Amino acid sequence: MATPMETRNELLAKKVISSLERRNMEGYFCKTKEDAIKKVLELIPEGGSVSWGGSMTIRDMGLTEAIKNGNFEVYDRDIVSPEEQQIIYRKVFSMDCFVTSANAISEDGVIINIDATGNRVAAISFGPKNVIIVAGLNKIAKDEDAAMKRARGTAAPINAQRFPNIQTPCKIDGTCHNCTAPGCICCSISTVRNSPIKGRIKVVLVDDSLGF
Ligand code: SF4
Repeated sequence: MATPMETRNELLAKKVISSLERRNMEGYFCKTKEDAIKKVLELIPEGGSVSWGGSMTIRDMGLTEAIKNGNFEVYDRDIVSPEEQQIIYRKVFSMDCFVTSANAISEDGVIINIDATGNRVAAISFGPKNVIIVAGLNKIAKDEDAAMKRARGTAAPINAQRFPNIQTPCKIDGTCHNCTAPGCICCSISTVRNSPIKGRIKVVLVDDSLGF
C-alpha cells in the first residue's frame, strides 16, 4: 500500500504532467531513479545522436553512464577539451536528442533554467529534435513566481559552490545578490511556457530528491 507521501507525490506528478500536456510537452512519472533511466533510454531514438547539459541530476543518478552504454551516437562533453566542448555545444542543435534537468518547474508546467554559458538554455529552446528533462519532485514549485525564486534563490547559489575559480557574492554567504560579478553563473535565464513543436520537450519526473 502506498504511503501518504507516495500518494501525494503521484497526484502532484499527474497534475504537472497534465499542465505540461496543455503546453504541448509530454510528461512521465517514475517512482525510482532506475525507472527514470529506463524511461529516458526508451525516449532517445534508437541509434540517434545525443548529448547533454551540465546538470548534476543526470550525472549523479547514473543516467549519462547508462546513455553511454546504450545504442546511441553519444557526444560526451564531459571528457573532451574546452575547444571540443564548444564544437559539441554547437553540434547539439542538429542532434536527435539533448538530455538535461531543470532548475524548477511550476505546478502549472512552466520550466525555468539558469545558465552561465547559455548552451543549455539555447538547446532547450531550439535545435535538437527531442529534449528530455529529468527532474526530481524537489524541483516542483507552486507557481511560476515560486519556480523562478527557487531557481535563482536556491539552485543557483548551491550550484555556484561547484566552481572553485569563481568569486561571486553567493560563494561567500550562500545567498543570491543578483550579481554581475566576473564568473557569474546566472547569465541567461530561460522560461519555457509552451513548446512550438508538440512533444519535442519531454519531462521525466522522478519521485525522489535529485540535484538542487
Ligand atoms: S550572486 Fe550572482 S552568481 Fe550567485 S546566484 Fe546570484 S546572480 Fe547567480
